[in-house]
Amino acid sequence: MTQKPTLTLDEVKERLYGRYSPTVMSVDIEAQAETIHKILTLKAKHNVTILGHNYMEPLVFSLSEEHEQGDSLGLSLYASKTDADYIIFNGVPFMAETAKILNPEKTVLVADKTAGCSLADNYRGEDVRALKEQYPGIPVMIYINSYADAKAESDITCTSANAANIARNLPGDKVLFVPDILFAQNLEEELKEEKEIIYPGKGNNYKGAVCEVHERFSLNDIEQIRYDFDIPKGHPQRMVYAHWECKPEVLRNADFYGSTTQIRQDIARRVNDPNLENRLEKAFIASECELTSNLQNEFPNVEFATACYVRCQHMAKTTLPKILNMLEAIDNGENLSKYEVNLSNEVIESARLPIERMLEYR
Ligand code: SF4
Repeated sequence: MTQKPTLTLDEVKERLYGRYSPTVMSVDIEAQAETIHKILTLKAKHNVTILGHNYMEPLVFSLSEEHEQGDSLGLSLYASKTDADYIIFNGVPFMAETAKILNPEKTVLVADKTAGCSLADNYRGEDVRALKEQYPGIPVMIYINSYADAKAESDITCTSANAANIARNLPGDKVLFVPDILFAQNLEEELKEEKEIIYPGKGNNYKGAVCEVHERFSLNDIEQIRYDFDIPKGHPQRMVYAHWECKPEVLRNADFYGSTTQIRQDIARRVNDPNLENRLEKAFIASECELTSNLQNEFPNVEFATACYVRCQHMAKTTLPKILNMLEAIDNGENLSKYEVNLSNEVIESARLPIERMLEYR
């Protein structure tokens, strides 16, 4: 294979200054440009695709081209089309597992296999099995933010973008939704006239889980942010966005709620609204703080309020030095077991089915 052309160090800096200021300070660009240059050079040399989740910090996100950026499902689907020799997934391991399930013959790598997730870590295959025993015959829909062993025990996966639609269309009048309790409560509210949503802790003693990042936003926070940043409810050019994993009262008081991708699409639509009086000028997003940083870089004319104490400690484990170490290991022909995501064929086969069922709804 012909090696792709690589950027010089000066070209890397030029690109970073062009795309990532003012959210990244020049001191950071100067400090990290050489590492980024080395990473991009090895990426091209070894035909690597680097998939960047929206929650990566901007300089890590910059390693991925636009078509390599997105949410966990979008990235896994992209991975199934790439002819890259290695797939590096800049995200947490459960996301890389989905990429592996959809691309079992490819080498999928993560920079830090110890990165966890409060949702996925606290809900495994045995938890799904226990709940199913209590509610036999009711379809189990599992959030894609889960490990392969939990998916393998479920009937269908969902994302925050398609959960309501899939639940509506599943047979019967009840759906078991795991593991996110807050997401489940939001789904229950959304579908209250149409479908009964059963989840861990609702009329039973089974444990569920929550996203420790989105859980942190309270109604009080949203009201304070509206006041501090002058984002009144219903203003045509100022928006508070919330992710499905937030508390129900936060969703009810947002101007728009949805998945990461739906929030991004709504911002893009409002930024380009032909009616100038509707064009987005200010926004706050109740989600992981680096999502806002990346949206600020993409939409520089919008003023984004930030709450950067809300960071995902697990996502933050993916750093430039670790990514460089991984690429140097590839370059030196070292054993990649420290980075490689491996699943048994049995788990891959069982976890693939609920994902494929979900994809039929796209
Ligand atoms: S933001 Fe972090 S804790 Fe929350 S679902 Fe994503 S990886 Fe898990």
